[in-house]
Amino acid sequence: MARIHVIQGDITRLQVYAIVNAANSSLLGGGGVDGAIHRAAGPELLEACRKIGGCPTGEARITPGFRLPARYVIHAVGPVWHGGKHGEAELLASCYRHSLQLAADHGLKQIAFPAISTGAYGYPFDEASSIAIRTVKEWLAAHNMVEEVYFVLFSDHHYQRFQQFLHKEETSG
Ligand code: ADP
Repeated sequence: MARIHVIQGDITRLQVYAIVNAANSSLLGGGGVDGAIHRAAGPELLEACRKIGGCPTGEARITPGFRLPARYVIHAVGPVWHGGKHGEAELLASCYRHSLQLAADHGLKQIAFPAISTGAYGYPFDEASSIAIRTVKEWLAAHNMVEEVYFVLFSDHHYQRFQQFLHKEETSG
């Protein structure tokens, strides 16, 4: 079974095969982690994203990482939170699964996720974290192509909270 790591920091600094971007469906950049990734990767990333021409919510697309230490960026489009009764949970889980599948399809053994949808898209952090953990664990149990998954939390508060959730999932089986 693959290893899961939780780290605090800036995902643009990670030297792993693939980092995941919390993108929007235009794939043309935005604020938050998306803005940080585009700034660090350089203008070639926007050019590559423009050629893809967008991505539906719940899916993901892959580009090179250009000037990033990561070789690839997987652009996942998370759901905007509209109260939880509009399929948000399934769309968020789908983002994680699509991203892992893209990594596997490209033979990428490491993937790093930010907390998709928990910033500007307003998904409650605790719920988003449980979905992320559960979905990634289920996917890893069924596939053996990805060896290391990193959850990268930007703030210390989110980092602490995420670790509690991971621990709880582990102790409850
Ligand atoms: P979304 O639109 O999907 O909500 P955001 O970028 O607004 O995306 O936020 C997603 C999460 O990414 C938030 O929890 C935010 O704190 C975090 N974040 C912002 N910048 C970075 C970064 N450089 N590295 C890792 N996580 C980041």
